Amino acid sequence: MQTRLFIDGEWVAPLLGGTLPVVDPATEAVFHHIPAASADDVDLAVRAARRAFDEGTWPRMTGGQRARFLRAIADKVREKKDFLARLEVRDNGKPFPEASWDMDDVAGCFDFYAGLAEEQDNNPEEAIPLGDARFDCKVVKEPLGVVGAITPWNYPLLMVAWKVAPALAAGCTVVLKPSELASLTTLELGVIAEETGLPAGVLNIVTGLGSDAGQPITEHPLVDKLAFTGSVATGRKVMIAGAQDIKNVSLELGGKSPFVVFADSDIEKAVEWIMFGIFWNQGQVCSATSRVLIEESAYDRVLARLVEESRKIRIGNGLDEGTLLGPIISRGQHDKILAAIERGREEGATVAAGGRRPDGLSHGYFIEPTILTGMGEDAWVWKEEIFGPVVCVKPFRDEADAIRMANDSKYGLAAAVMSKDRARAERVARAFRAGIVWINCSQPTFTDAPWGGYKQSGVGRELGRWGFENYLETKQITGFSSDEPWGWYIK
Ligand code: NAD
Repeated sequence: MQTRLFIDGEWVAPLLGGTLPVVDPATEAVFHHIPAASADDVDLAVRAARRAFDEGTWPRMTGGQRARFLRAIADKVREKKDFLARLEVRDNGKPFPEASWDMDDVAGCFDFYAGLAEEQDNNPEEAIPLGDARFDCKVVKEPLGVVGAITPWNYPLLMVAWKVAPALAAGCTVVLKPSELASLTTLELGVIAEETGLPAGVLNIVTGLGSDAGQPITEHPLVDKLAFTGSVATGRKVMIAGAQDIKNVSLELGGKSPFVVFADSDIEKAVEWIMFGIFWNQGQVCSATSRVLIEESAYDRVLARLVEESRKIRIGNGLDEGTLLGPIISRGQHDKILAAIERGREEGATVAAGGRRPDGLSHGYFIEPTILTGMGEDAWVWKEEIFGPVVCVKPFRDEADAIRMANDSKYGLAAAVMSKDRARAERVARAFRAGIVWINCSQPTFTDAPWGGYKQSGVGRELGRWGFENYLETKQITGFSSDEPWGWYIK
């Protein structure tokens, strides 16, 4: 496990020498320390990335040449999958099979963007027909520059891959700041970058607190683009900081995603997808199914089965075989979630299941799968992101009522609908004001398809070709090819 920052191809101690403890959320034991970078370390990292972009080989390579590095990174992630997944579990708490799945997705993401980099070599420019035959025009795509990437703790290495893979594929250089709550696998990505011979300065990793290591990236004049995933509150600060130099800013923020279940749905399937939507990764998922709307006539049946099944979920250390719900990432988040449940009670909600620390687990930041019902549409728990294994359930009258309730949110990241009537499901899917919509399922995520939110859930899209565009500038090159003079001033 690394104890240093990765800057300009070297492992270096932070200039002020600070460290932050790494706590295993299942045991509350400190098992490592990560370096705590400050503004001066960030400055060194940004200058290294700037040099690598302005003077280095990386942005000048062909897509195919860059793709070889990305594929080598993917191969190394697969080689080290077991080690990386275990490290992720100890750092973040998620059940081991989920962390293994994440590592497959990380490797898949690097392979996918290697493919897009290669494709770009085949389509280096696009001819644009103009209305005036005296001119010829083509459009070329170029790497955007130095990227400041700031990531959260819920999918530590996967959220890094969603940014670093397309940025590198596009020819950008990167200064990466993972969450202080889960940085270990990101530092291992630095080891992998070194092992694959990635040129110095192309990927730099600075760990530390948001205020000390994140903010200086957002304010640094030599950074061209900010790619941020995290909370709305921090996203707002990132956008404000980026405004100073008119940086290119993309934001992936929070959500309060609805799942509309019509009475004609298969109840068992509905219950399973709701559970997958809210209890996977302890509900610490930006797109989590945190608001469930059930058609009145099916409400009691679905709720009863949901309560019954949620009580059977095996809770424990993510490294223990059979665990389906691990601990919450930190003491702070754990206490915030319990406070949110308490607030729900005060607002008149009923705790239909869970709501507390599970019996028999005296250590670790565990919370039972929790189901809240009976809250009003104005209740805080119905409106705000709790970011834990807490689902709010309400009945709806008809399709129009469901759409109104689903869209009555400042967020618009994801939404889901379940019905055997596919035409109705499609109609509702189109009526949702959200960037990701699932029909008859919730949460499956694919590297090929765009990911991002409407409203306060973000700006821009990650994944797929949209995620690649995020790191490219678009340049028009227009030529005057007529032999005739222009004839405006000189006739
Ligand atoms: P957070 O906003 O607290 O932190 C995110 C990152 O920002 C961390 O690395 C943190 O150190 C850094 N940071 C904090 N203050 C900063 C500042 N002033 N300047 C620059 N960087 C700063 O978020 P979190 O608690 O790590 O993650 C949870 C949030 O992320 C949830 O709201 C969740 O919905 C969201 N999220 C969104 C997506 C998505 O794709 N839309 C994916 C995962 C998580």
